[in-house]
Amino acid sequence: MLQIDLSGRVAVVTGGASGIGRAAARLLARCGAKVFVGDLRPLDENAAEFSDLGIVQHACDVRSEASIAQLIDRIVAEAGRLDILVNNAGIGMVKQIADVSEEDWTACIDTNLKGPFFGCKHAVRHMASGGGGAIVNTASNAGLLPRAHDPVYSISKMALVAMTKSLALCHARDRIRVNCVCPGPVGDTRMMDDDLEMAADRDALVAQMISASPLAKAHERMETPEEIAEAILYLVSDAATMVTGTSIAIDGGKSLGVPPNA
Ligand code: NAD
Repeated sequence: MLQIDLSGRVAVVTGGASGIGRAAARLLARCGAKVFVGDLRPLDENAAEFSDLGIVQHACDVRSEASIAQLIDRIVAEAGRLDILVNNAGIGMVKQIADVSEEDWTACIDTNLKGPFFGCKHAVRHMASGGGGAIVNTASNAGLLPRAHDPVYSISKMALVAMTKSLALCHARDRIRVNCVCPGPVGDTRMMDDDLEMAADRDALVAQMISASPLAKAHERMETPEEIAEAILYLVSDAATMVTGTSIAIDGGKSLGVPPNA
């Protein structure tokens, strides 16, 4: 296993109360980082474990620039620096365009794209003055290969991949690296649970998602939040010192575009 030591680093993970964000917060903390979680709904169930790992939870709504700025300024005031930002908070939007209201559009784009942008804006000023930093955006395989069932979500994630590349170029001179992870179907997340809850046939939907991802099919399971967290850990670590603007697909090959029954 790659040995990564994040001692002395300060990290913030948005959407860190559950799913991929929680797995990333745990892993970064276990590797020595001081981790802060910013989430719309901090969960009491995390309190004991987070406290053992030294993870601090703050309420934050990434749709609001003021809320993100306040979170980041508070963390810098408490911890004295900021080295790592994981822009992970996100929501799904499974709707055809005829059913998408202006409110739906705003909710999805503001959470999945505007939030990460303003996260970067406010993190970058502290990272630049601190000599550098690492930002990881949680995009999706929908950011690499758009999907028919969730167009607004696909738009938000494709734009997030584009933003990652653009900001990587803008801030390389500040030694700030900006990368993204593009997960496929990840089990044990609230987003997946919500999708499955809405399904007419839950088992059929699970089987369909697994069969659309060649490696998920071979392993007969979805990806886990921990598997995405491992990629996030690599990207924020010194092992990735020369890696910026890249998108790591952790989707079992789904974004290769291989037809489900190939
Ligand atoms: P999740 O629902 O378990 O976690 C998302 C977290 O974001 C929650 O804790 C939620 O409270 C928080 N959040 C939502 N809106 C917020 C806001 N406005 N401000 C602050 N926090 C907010 O789901 P997850 O799957 O772990 O999602 C994490 C990321 O992974 C998302 O960006 C999602 O798009 C992406 N993703 C998930 C999957 C999957 O299959 N689960 C696949 C690809 C990408």
